[in-house]
Amino acid sequence: MNKLYYRYGAMNSGKTTLLLQVAHNYEERGMKVLILKPGIDTKGDNKIVTRIGLEREVDYLIHPDEDLSIYLKSISNDISCVLVDESQFLSKEQIDELYKFTKLKDISVICYGLRSDFKTNAFPGSKRLFEIADVMEEMYTTCRCGKRAKFNARIVNGEFTSSGEQVAIDGENEVKYESLCGKCYLEKVLKITNYDYNKENNSIKDRLIAYKEELEKNNKESSSTLKKYRKSILVKIRNELSENLHKNDYTRKLK
Ligand SMILES: [Zn+2]
Repeated sequence: MNKLYYRYGAMNSGKTTLLLQVAHNYEERGMKVLILKPGIDTKGDNKIVTRIGLEREVDYLIHPDEDLSIYLKSISNDISCVLVDESQFLSKEQIDELYKFTKLKDISVICYGLRSDFKTNAFPGSKRLFEIADVMEEMYTTCRCGKRAKFNARIVNGEFTSSGEQVAIDGENEVKYESLCGKCYLEKVLKITNYDYNKENNSIKDRLIAYKEELEKNNKESSSTLKKYRKSILVKIRNELSENLHKNDYTRKLK
């Protein structure tokens, strides 16, 4: 039984290069493939262009609202595999048609595409593929920090941005993309740093240390009347801290 595959990754993970390699492997063994891509991707028009300079004409351009079943039903049975580039741009219905084609015509379809957009949300095509593909394979590229990149950050006029339309093609209107890991995405695009995230926790930690020091000092140095008085204040502080800390491990240490 043939399958619907989804090979996904961030930009620059070599998806299109692999697609051309797979096409070459089939053809080397005398088998026929068809290469499809959505017409929404204006990069290279009816060609597939890879970042390492390979290119090839596609067999069919899929238009945004077209009923893909008409084309798929016309495909002859001597085709061994259908390869789809930039499949994140297809509609849910078009992915459903590719699935039907795989199962009812018994020809494999390998879709290549992005996992998510520059806001980390799935595209219509990628969402549907995650729901129904038989096989999903992640492809990797490297973030500027050396970790695996999962997200595509959009850069407009040299600045990272998290607002704008879902589709803005690379290289057009000063739009660029950079593949980032999760941590770098939070830091560079959403401007959330490790320090900011832990700031509240740190201030509670500092107060906890001060509380413990006071408690020790009180036990060592105070007279019994003073001890009683200071203890009541310390209990108040402890209760307040406990409330703030009820969700984490420091609570235990207060007892
Ligand atoms: Zn990173």
